[in-house]
Amino acid sequence: VPLFTETYKALLLDTLKVPSPDCYLRPEGVSWEDHSRTMFAAMEQTLAEHHASIAAVIVEPLIQGAGGMRMYHPVYLKLLREACDRYEVHLIHDEIAVGFGRTGTMFACEQAGIRPDFLCLSKALTGGYLPLAACLTTDEVYGAFYDDYSTLRAFLHSHSYTGNPLACAAALATLDIFEQDNVIEANKALSQRMASASAHLVDHPHVAEVRQTGMALAIEMVQDKASKTAYPWQERRGMKVFEHALTRGALLRPLGSVVYFLPPYVITPEQIDFLAEVASEGIDIATRDSVSVAVPANFHPDFRDPG
Ligand SMILES: *Cc1c(COP(=O)(O)O)cnc(C)c1O
Repeated sequence: VPLFTETYKALLLDTLKVPSPDCYLRPEGVSWEDHSRTMFAAMEQTLAEHHASIAAVIVEPLIQGAGGMRMYHPVYLKLLREACDRYEVHLIHDEIAVGFGRTGTMFACEQAGIRPDFLCLSKALTGGYLPLAACLTTDEVYGAFYDDYSTLRAFLHSHSYTGNPLACAAALATLDIFEQDNVIEANKALSQRMASASAHLVDHPHVAEVRQTGMALAIEMVQDKASKTAYPWQERRGMKVFEHALTRGALLRPLGSVVYFLPPYVITPEQIDFLAEVASEGIDIATRDSVSVAVPANFHPDFRDPG
């Protein structure tokens, strides 16, 4: 999302970007798997051309969050792992959003049957109660920094609250709950409930797609359903859904015109039904009228309005 990086461009490392395997954009009649496989060609080509100067490939596995809750098939991650091995390039999974069960497995990489070289974790590590992040890596990478003191090869990056005991206690308690309550298994029924409660929205004249990966479900509102023509971002349709939801006591936080559910796992089936009902009402309201808008001059076109 350029909005988040443009200001800091001069400070950041140069990166190569490849087209997303985002299955919302797949041609009609093509499966998620086939589309994700096809889209991998661009990644393969980039690695083939530039692998000698690439330090690592970083991906958000299965769900691209801030980009609009766009989703793709695990086959892409499998092909990427194979290619990274072939070209000797490290693979980084940013599972900050999807780690700890969001996609239906404890980690998204499990669905591809692979291991990244680096696994970035945070958010649900503490159940969201305290801030904690962790970056896991392989013994091989760890070993590269492990040396005699006199060589000064240690990995000297930390900060004041590294290993904060309270946050770690919250994380351990959260991991205990995952183990004792069999959360991943229990979530299967909840994610099915999310699907059935939202299924009717597929037929809405201004919904282009209802997509789901485990405990994440997203509804894409569009101006024209047949051509998937997006609403002009200036119309802030998502904010109308947000405003309606507030009047009903629900907190929905659309990304642009994408309404989504990313509920905590303590949600009940009845609460899921309620959320789907509120979202349906909000989508009806948000898509009913034409909207007149005044565009602030400094508004960035890539900004996905969270409301
Ligand atoms: C929230 C999020 C981040 C940001 O993590 P911080 O620890 O707040 O910097 C990075 N990547 C993904 C996928 C996220 O969802």
